[in-house]
Amino acid sequence: MNTVFTNAIITAYCACFLCTGTANQPTACGKMPVAGVTVAAPRSIPFGTVVHIEGIGQRTVQDRLARRYDSRWDVFLPSHAAAKRFGLQRRTVTILRTNTASPPKKPCPAPPSKS
Ligand SMILES: [Zn+2]
Repeated sequence: MNTVFTNAIITAYCACFLCTGTANQPTACGKMPVAGVTVAAPRSIPFGTVVHIEGIGQRTVQDRLARRYDSRWDVFLPSHAAAKRFGLQRRTVTILRTNTASPPKKPCPAPPSKS
C-alpha cells in the first residue's frame, strides 16, 4: 500500500530570489534543483523519496519549504513565469518509494548558509 496524500496543497517555485530568498542556491539537501526532478516536501518525508503528483508526474524529494508551509508540496519549475502560473493547486500525491536510508530527522547536509 502506497501512502497517499489526497487534496495536498501544491505550489511551485524556481531558483530565483523571489522564490527562494537566495538565487541559484542548492536545495535543502545540497543538490542543485532540477526541473522535472526536484520537489520540496514536508519534513516528515525523507530526502530521496520518490513521489507521483497527480497531473504532474514523478518527482524526487530534494528540498524543504519554509517551516510555516511545511504541510505543502513545492514543485521546482524552470522559470519564474511558470511557477507563478502554477499558483496554488490541490492534487493527490502518492509516495512511490520511501528513501529509508535517509531518516527524516537526519537530512543530508544543509546548503552553506550566507554569513
Ligand atoms: Zn521564481
